[in-house]
Amino acid sequence: MTVADRSTLLAIPTVKLLIGGEFVESRTTQWRDVINPATQAVLARVPFATPQELDAAVESGRRAFKTWRKTPIGVRARIFLKYQQLIRENMKELAALLTAEQGKTLPDAEGDIFRGLEVVEHAANIGMLQMGELANNVATGVDTFTLNQPLGVCAGITPFNFPAMIPLWMFPMAIATGNTFILKPSEQDPLVTMRLVELALEAGIPKGVLNVVHGGEAVVNGICDHPEIKAVSFVGSTKVGTHVYRRATLAGKRAQCMMGAKNHAVVLPDANREQTINNLIGAAFGAAGQRCMAASTVVFVGDSKDWIADLVARSQALKLNAGHESGTDVGPVISCAAVERISSLIERGIAEGAKLELDGRKPLVPGYEHGNFVGPTIFSGVKPGMSIYDEEIFGPVLVILEAASLDEAIELVNSNPNGNGTALFTQSGAAARRFQEDIDVGQVGINVPIPVPVPLFSFTGSRASKLGDLGPYGKQVILFYTQTKTVTQRWFDDETLHVGVNTTISLR
Ligand code: NAD
Repeated sequence: MTVADRSTLLAIPTVKLLIGGEFVESRTTQWRDVINPATQAVLARVPFATPQELDAAVESGRRAFKTWRKTPIGVRARIFLKYQQLIRENMKELAALLTAEQGKTLPDAEGDIFRGLEVVEHAANIGMLQMGELANNVATGVDTFTLNQPLGVCAGITPFNFPAMIPLWMFPMAIATGNTFILKPSEQDPLVTMRLVELALEAGIPKGVLNVVHGGEAVVNGICDHPEIKAVSFVGSTKVGTHVYRRATLAGKRAQCMMGAKNHAVVLPDANREQTINNLIGAAFGAAGQRCMAASTVVFVGDSKDWIADLVARSQALKLNAGHESGTDVGPVISCAAVERISSLIERGIAEGAKLELDGRKPLVPGYEHGNFVGPTIFSGVKPGMSIYDEEIFGPVLVILEAASLDEAIELVNSNPNGNGTALFTQSGAAARRFQEDIDVGQVGINVPIPVPVPLFSFTGSRASKLGDLGPYGKQVILFYTQTKTVTQRWFDDETLHVGVNTTISLR
């Protein structure tokens, strides 16, 4: 390395680990650049933590758990009340950071943060959420009640596409329920996550309760294997999630893995044309198609010619630009590798016989010629068995299929292995009711293209999109992060109770 190379390297900030309440420099020799996908500017360098650093983070969580698990409800709740306020106050700064490293537009970055903020607000209500049940007089003078107690050190592994929302799905609920936490953010865009972690400490999360390690496969495997970690929450691709689920459960942990998707929007002929086209375009091309709930597949029931013409005309008009530029509709995808993967899938789509209605490859984006851009791309005549239908493209590519009837469309959706999200567009209540009854997908929208539930409910992806029974927020996550203990209790009153010896199993 030359002197000039070394001084350039030194000028690039490094992303810190968080261990025992201190932001520390990793001692690793393995680093990766965090790159602005619109410009290729190197924003920071992120370490791949060593096994010793993971051990130190877990040990700090283990020690902190001893006191944190017994911290009163009000103290825990007030931290999250303060935290939501800090996130709101810093929204613009957080969104700018997110856009710089991830690429999505500023309004969409605020949406990413806001959907996480909703979970933080929910965590502030932990007293009500974690309450057990009580049955009075289950036998004479006997009451039974449940305690929902924290597990210990829990861990979360997050993907690149929602670097604010998904970490916020995880550590606030785990910590509010009395656990301590090890967060492993995406190595592609960890900066906004780290700023959210700083704000969490500022809100009052005590030392050691929240820890952060960075890295890739080795650190994730270390988390799955670590004997002190009790539960692992993962969000990311199906390939990695399946591996994490197997490895973590084999090591005796609880695991929940939210994974890849192929979400179908079914459009009936009676659907409101203007609203439906707007919704489809937003849900297919927003965030450059890098959403696990993106409507990446449209199934038109009946004649689709006019619908396709409208979709193409409107999608062509979308403005492709860097996410921080005003008026941008579609920002860059995360990496050069993502551009290559998406472009090669488009080529396979053409080769396998689909009709390319709109080609977004190699777009010209003045001022951002080196950015990772792919424009809105639309295929019609797509069939199961084609790569562009069978694989998750995770880019701004919309594939269009046709069905002769609602029943045929339902059968098509149910035959796809993925079950993350789906939507129906119609004016018919009867058709909507049939769809919601018969469709085998975790999250269903009726005239709602991206039906991600608010935290009063849980995220409920299903089939190949999810492993583990319980969702990452809402009521289900309370069960995931707690162990239910059932206490059956009697207090003797010498004056009134003469139960004698009871050798049966029954209470009396
Ligand atoms: P990814 O699976 O590549 O990475 C997710 C996490 O796993 C990252 O923290 C990464 O460091 C780690 N990782 C990567 N390779 C690994 C390996 N070989 N072994 C162990 N760990 C590894 O996913 P991504 O590209 O960051 O995110 C996009 C994917 O996430 C898409 O498939 C998308 O559908 C999915 N996703 C799903 C949901 C959901 O709720 N179902 C939400 C968001 C994203």
